[in-house]
Amino acid sequence: MTATTKIANPRDIAQNVMALITELNLQPTPQVYHVFYSYLADEVPELSQLIKVLIRNTQDLDEETVFRIYHKYLGTHAMQQHLKQGVEGLQSAVERVEQAVTLVMRDTDAFCSDIDVAARQLVSDDITLQEARTVSRTLSEKSDQARNRYASFNGSLDEYHQEVLRVRSELELVRRDALTDTLTGIANRKNFDASLRDAVTATMESGAPLSLLMIDIDHFKAFNDNFGHRAGDGVLKAVARVLVSSTKGADTVARYGGEEFAIILPDTEPENAAKLATKLRENVSNQHIVNKKTGKDFGKLTVSIGLTAYQLGENILEFVDRADKALYLAKQDGRNTCVTQ
Ligand code: GH3
Ligand code: MG
Ligand code: MG
Repeated sequence: MTATTKIANPRDIAQNVMALITELNLQPTPQVYHVFYSYLADEVPELSQLIKVLIRNTQDLDEETVFRIYHKYLGTHAMQQHLKQGVEGLQSAVERVEQAVTLVMRDTDAFCSDIDVAARQLVSDDITLQEARTVSRTLSEKSDQARNRYASFNGSLDEYHQEVLRVRSELELVRRDALTDTLTGIANRKNFDASLRDAVTATMESGAPLSLLMIDIDHFKAFNDNFGHRAGDGVLKAVARVLVSSTKGADTVARYGGEEFAIILPDTEPENAAKLATKLRENVSNQHIVNKKTGKDFGKLTVSIGLTAYQLGENILEFVDRADKALYLAKQDGRNTCVTQ
C-alpha cells in the first residue's frame, strides 16, 4: 500500500491515510494528514510525485519535510489558488444553469401552446380520426423532447450541486488552515482570541466557571542556543502534543506565541484547573527528548504555568493579564511550578 496505489473512494482514502502515516512513523497532525490524503487521492500531481520519491527514501521523510510540502502545495496560498479555481468553476456552473433554466422556460411555454392548439383541434366538431391521430402523435413526440430536455436540465443542476459541494469543502480547509498554527498543528493565536471571546460570552450567560492557563517553556532560549533552532521547533511540537493529549474535547489548546501556550478550560473550577496544571507539568517533564535521527539526548524540559479563573463582569484583557501575571510569578518562584492569581 505504501508504494503508489491510487485510491478513488474518499472513505478508503481516509482509512489508508492513517495506516500510511503510522507506517511512516509520522505524527498525524492536520497538515501531515492533509498531505497524505492529497497523495492517496492524487489531487496535486507534483505533490504525489514528490511523496512517491520520498517514500522510497524514507530517511528523508520527516515531519519537517512534510510541513514544507504542505505549505508549498496545500498551505493557505495554494488553497487560495484552489479556491479561486473553485469559484470560477462555480460561476461557470451558475451560467450553465441559467442558460438551462432559460431554455426550459422557453420550451415549457412552447409546449403549453402546443397543448392549447392540440386541445382546440381535438374538440373541434369536424376533426377526422386521421387528423386526431396526427395531433396525438405530434403531442407525444413533443412530450418526449420536453422530457429529454428536462433530463439534461437536471444533469446541469447535479453538476452545479457537485461544484457547490467542492467549493464548500475547500472553503472549510482554508478556514481551518487560517486558524491552525503551522508548526505545531494546534490552534493559533487568532483561534485562541476567538475561542476565548466565545468562552467568556458563554460564561457570562451561564455563570459556569471558566479557567485559563498560560504555559511557558523554561529556559528555552538556552535550549535553542545549545541544540539549535530546529531541535527547539521539535520541542515546541512535542510540548503541543503533550498538552493536547492531556486535555479533553471542550478545552482549547493554543500556541499563544513563541514558546508560550494557552489553554482555555470551560466549565472548570480553578481547583480542577490546578490539578490539570500539575498533570501537564509532570507529563512535560517526564518526556525524554531525543533526536529521532541521531539519538542525541536533549535532556528534560519543564514548563511554568499561570492560572486564573474568570471573574464575572471583567473584560477579556483583565482576564488574560491576570493569567500572564500568574505566569510571571511562577517564573519568579523558580519555574516548573503553577501559580494561581
Ligand atoms: P524563561 O524560563 O524565563 O521563560 O526563559 P526563556 O529562555 O524560555 O525565555 P525567553 O523569553 O528569554 O526566550 C524565549 C525563547 O524562545 C527565545 C527563542 O529562542 C525561543 N523561541 C520562540 N519562538 C520559537 C520558535 O518558533 N522556535 C524555536 N526553536 N524557538 C523559539
Ligand atoms: Mg516566553
Ligand atoms: Mg520561556
